[in-house]
Amino acid sequence: MRETLLLKTHAICLNVRPFSKTSHMVTWLTADHGRVTTPIKGAQRPKSAFIGRYDVGYTCELVYYARESGGVHHIRECSPLAFREGLRATWRGAEAAAYACDLTLRTAQPNLANPALFQALGDTLDALQTSAPHETSLTLLWFESNLLRALGLGPDFTPCAHCPLTPTRAFSVEEGRFFCGHRPSRSARPLTLALHADIPALYLRFLAQPLTAVLDAAKASPRLDDLGRPEPFPGIFGLRRFLGVFLSTHLDLLPGPRRTVLDLLA
Ligand SMILES: [Zn+2]
Repeated sequence: MRETLLLKTHAICLNVRPFSKTSHMVTWLTADHGRVTTPIKGAQRPKSAFIGRYDVGYTCELVYYARESGGVHHIRECSPLAFREGLRATWRGAEAAAYACDLTLRTAQPNLANPALFQALGDTLDALQTSAPHETSLTLLWFESNLLRALGLGPDFTPCAHCPLTPTRAFSVEEGRFFCGHRPSRSARPLTLALHADIPALYLRFLAQPLTAVLDAAKASPRLDDLGRPEPFPGIFGLRRFLGVFLSTHLDLLPGPRRTVLDLLA
């Protein structure tokens, strides 16, 4: 016999797609049960109780009947807790939020709690509402770094105790660690990237600091790039490139959408 259980949890709306003529299929990242999908029947009918109560980037209180068999779950109630209207005020914020939600949709595990990922996505969406252009791409790099760690797939930047700490070192992308003669590679010709020490340093800073602290430090930094644009920390461009290669290798993602959103924001 199939059991159902009534669950109540906070949930960030990741994706809304049409399903039959009047219904929606909505995917959420929940605080307590990971990724969850709920059909909302008749969502587009004028008298639907759900009209205006969810959209991509909202945090809602969700009440649903969890089916033990997994799959999709029947929704009972949905009450918005944070609309994040600021995301709709600028195309930049909207694009960035859509990217962060889509990345989460593609990588979060179904029905498996990931509190660190839930927190990171919520913080990211909050910040994107008011961020300046260069802060938007910085926010997405912070999010990608924290998403990788929350998924347990982040790069291992631990230096080898026996190798000299040169400013630039070869990183083995598929193995997720620095290439090192003391730990021979399993593959004959590993894909390596030359990483300047600024890149791991910035990645580790993003894991160590909350997003608000990173953005405050960025505001206070007078650094500019060669073209006179704000570049608050060293290694931003390199980390952006590194994460692009790393994400597409380890998460099996197409590079196109990420390149599009980051180019638009630049
Ligand atoms: Zn070594």
